[in-house]
Amino acid sequence: MKNPSGKLLLLAGILFSASIVPVPAAGQDKLSLKTVVIDPGHGGHDSGCISPDKKTYEKNLTLSISKLFAEKIRSTCPDVRVIMTRDDDRYVTLSGRADIANNAGADLFVSIHINAQAKGNSASGYSIHCLGQSSRQGNDLFGKNLDLVQRENSVILLEDDYQTKYQGFDPSDPQSYIFFSLMQNAHLEHSLLFAEDVAEAMKGGPISRNRGVSQDPFWVLWRTAMPAVLVEVGFISNAADLQAMRSPQGREKIADNLLKAFKSFKARYDGSAAVSRQPAEASREKQKADEPEKKDEAVPAPERTTSGSQYAIQILATSRKMKPSDAFFRGYAPTEVKSGKLYKYLILPDTDLSATRKKWREVRKKFPECFIVRKEGETLTRIP
Ligand SMILES: [Zn+2]
Repeated sequence: MKNPSGKLLLLAGILFSASIVPVPAAGQDKLSLKTVVIDPGHGGHDSGCISPDKKTYEKNLTLSISKLFAEKIRSTCPDVRVIMTRDDDRYVTLSGRADIANNAGADLFVSIHINAQAKGNSASGYSIHCLGQSSRQGNDLFGKNLDLVQRENSVILLEDDYQTKYQGFDPSDPQSYIFFSLMQNAHLEHSLLFAEDVAEAMKGGPISRNRGVSQDPFWVLWRTAMPAVLVEVGFISNAADLQAMRSPQGREKIADNLLKAFKSFKARYDGSAAVSRQPAEASREKQKADEPEKKDEAVPAPERTTSGSQYAIQILATSRKMKPSDAFFRGYAPTEVKSGKLYKYLILPDTDLSATRKKWREVRKKFPECFIVRKEGETLTRIP
């Protein structure tokens, strides 16, 4: 089906009504990484990529690495619940995978895949992907990872009724991806932090060429309501990568690297600022009508900032430096704040909190997951 715009709108509608938006809790809740979902890519009649000699299937490598990773978390972090979207050679739909993670209330979703070069065998290395648009230049929606994104998303075509289930989404049609640009995933910041941890840990080899962290429109990441990354461990089309993944020691080391990244992320995630989960727009509006302004009264932030600090609206956090003229900003002039490995973009700075709240109510019509921050120097504090 070719980009039925009505269906895309419908899809966007489903997205906004079903998405989860983090809202800082009024209390002092602390985050704690209690449940992780590990998702071995492909399975059953979906083999994924196949090695040039046709002997090794992506689905088997992803399962083996995922199982090792799961075992390592279970034995070293007994307080963490580990759930696999599959633990044998079976087919699970992309929406089924996201459902498993959402129903489990998982705090982290890790999808394991193996890459393949469409032509040739020179490409090697690992890459980590979070939800987003990898390229915003011109009309090039997801430039360098086009083949990869289309291939990983194309598994939905294996489902008999995919046109109904995926609301007309056509993985091979670039137009179908436009709606992804409407969203900033609520959990993008944590996703990017974990992705960076994985990128760092995987340097330990055996596949050590880092192809980097990027943001791409993977369906399975978009549907999950928690920090979520997709790891492409290596290239099945590359002789050295394949040899490393075929060897039990190689897979063991890869799983060790993933565990290292998991622990490093968990250490930072646990006890970090609280976010509570709350239904988005529609139900939030309803709640507002039921309890007018109650939330606002509970806010401890001062109405006016002092000594040079300001309130502003954060509309984006990304690992990629953006041009202020980027179409994403819809004409707003953003202020860039570098925060660790992330770039955060703020708009409409003001010293008055209630004025900022008023603006935020308007801005969130365009950026549904934006929120207010207090900016003191380069330090940003999220305001409920
Ligand atoms: Zn795959």
